[in-house]
Order: sequence, then C-alpha cells, then structure tokens
Amino acid sequence: MSGEVELSVVVPVYNEEENIQPLYGELKPVLDKLGKKYEIIFIDDGSTDQSFPELERLHRKDERVKVMKFRRNFGKSAALASGFDKAQGELVFTMDGDLQDDPKEMPKFLSKIDEGYDLVVGWKHKRKDSYTKKIPSKIFNSLSMHLTGVNVHDSNCCFKAYKKEVVKEIRIYGELHRYIPALAHWKGFRVTEVKVNHRKRKYGNSKYGVMRLFKGFLDLITVKFLTTYARRPLHFFGTPGFIFSAIGFFAGLYLLYEKYIMNQLIGERPLLLLSVFFVLIGAQFIFIGLIGEMITNTAGEVGVYNLEVILD
Ligand code: UDP
Ligand code: MG
Repeated sequence: MSGEVELSVVVPVYNEEENIQPLYGELKPVLDKLGKKYEIIFIDDGSTDQSFPELERLHRKDERVKVMKFRRNFGKSAALASGFDKAQGELVFTMDGDLQDDPKEMPKFLSKIDEGYDLVVGWKHKRKDSYTKKIPSKIFNSLSMHLTGVNVHDSNCCFKAYKKEVVKEIRIYGELHRYIPALAHWKGFRVTEVKVNHRKRKYGNSKYGVMRLFKGFLDLITVKFLTTYARRPLHFFGTPGFIFSAIGFFAGLYLLYEKYIMNQLIGERPLLLLSVFFVLIGAQFIFIGLIGEMITNTAGEVGVYNLEVILD
C-alpha cells in the first residue's frame, strides 16, 4: 500500500463518540468524489468514552481508516504531530472530529493548492460558537497577525490542507497547533486561506476552557520568539543587555565625576546601587544570550533552512 496514498486526512479525536460515525459518513462520499487514493487517520487522544471502539469498528469496515491511540490525553498538537508522522499522502488535510468542519469544503482547499500554495487555512468567517470563544479568538488572531506577519484570519482553524513537505517540516508540540500558519510561513511555505462553512457542535462538549486564553498568549510569545530569534538568541537578549549595561555605566560615570571632580561623597547615593545593579543585569542578559547561541549551535536536529528543490 505504501506510496500509493495520494491524500491523507488527519483527525484528532478526544471524547467524540457520537461524532465519529457521522463524520466518516460525510467524509467518505466527498473523498470518493475527489478520485484520489486516500487514507483517513484518526488519532484518539486518550479518550475516556467509546471513541476508540467506534474507531476500531470503522477500521474493520474500511481499511483506509487508520487509527492511532494515545495512552492518555496529550493534547491536540501531539495528536496532529503523530498524524503528520503517519500521513503518506502528497496532500494532507486536517480537520476537527466534532463535525463542526464541513467536508464538502474540501475542493475549495484543493483549488488553492493547485494555484501553488503549500498551506491553505480555513477561515470560519461565520463561526458557530459562543461569544466567549469568538471574542478571545478574534483578539488573538489580530494580535498574532500583527506579530507574525501572516495574513490569515483564523490561524487556529483546524480545517487546513497542506502539501506533504509542510507537515513533515514543521514541529508542533505543547499548544503550538494554533500557530501552524506562522510556523509554516517562517519556513518559507506559501500560505493562504479560504472561507469555510462552520457548524454548531451537535454532540459532545468543547474541550477548551478559559485557560486557553492564557496559554495561547504564552504560545504567541514562543512563536514570535522562535520565528524571529531562535537562530540568533544574542540579538534578542543582547539588546536589553546593552541597554541596561549602558544605563549602569553612565550612571557610574556620573558618580565618578561627582566624586573626583565635584569632591562629593557618593557612598550612600542610591544611584550607586542602581548603577551596579544595571551593569550586573545587563551582563546577565548578554551571557544568557551567549548561552542561547551555544545551545542553538549544538542543537543539530532543528532545521536552519528548508530546501524546496534539490537537483543532483
Ligand atoms: N481534541 C483533541 N485533544 C484535546 C482536545 C481536543 O484531540 O486535548 C480534538 C477534539 O476531539 C476535536 C478537536 O480537537 O476533534 C477540536 O476540539 P474542540 O471542538 O473541543 O475545540 P473548539 O472547536 O471548541 O475550539
Ligand atoms: Mg469544535
């Protein structure tokens, strides 16, 4: 079978027992119509309901359905990452397992891929979720658009189509799946978006609460840092380092002037403490940056660049 698959659909599933059969029921006709050899990879992210038995049932019925099961809940990023490892198709789709994404939209993504894009991101422009989800998500998306420079409205939308190179290249862990477009853009892939139909959740519950706000913000800092400075940490830490050192240095210089030229006592001046403090802090920053450089230099497995073509 290996090498024959042209299209892989990756679906993370965490306690979606009622959604699995209907999702397969919707996916199959759409995929059959596309006329590509396909596989559907479900990753059971440690479900505690009947999701896995449901998936097993599908697998027995249709050998194109592949199932991976985590021993516990590792999160959506881990689920997607393991699906990406397994996927064999030249084209890969990801979508939620809760029926909110509409498989009928798949051809739209494919036409964008045909236009030459490497990653096509769904945009739930009429999102069918509560306001407690929609508002924070809007804020995040505009923040991340500004910070990462990737112009997609709905970075976190799971409904995406990728060329194989993209999924094999980007490394997602923690909660980084929200920033796949930024990571792909950083690696030099061409990213675009298409508007998609979004539906209300009929069965089961959303798995994300308010904590996602806070975690999402930390992840945004990670992504910004990784995509900008991962390869040159000293540029990041060195800047505050030099600023602090310079403030400390000039404050010290001023005190020396007071002591030797103006003949004043400086031993009890708060500025003296401040000056020493700033020089130390500044030095710390610079050394942290240098340690970062050492780590970057020895961490061989993280790609520095991403080759598109090799002719030999
Ligand atoms: N999911 C997962 N692991 C998790 C949380 C969620 O695999 O730890 C899956 C979930 O089963 C669904 C998709 O990720 O298929 C999106 O989750 P959900 O619908 O809860 O997110 P929302 O649509 O509310 O953002
Ligand atoms: Mg959902």
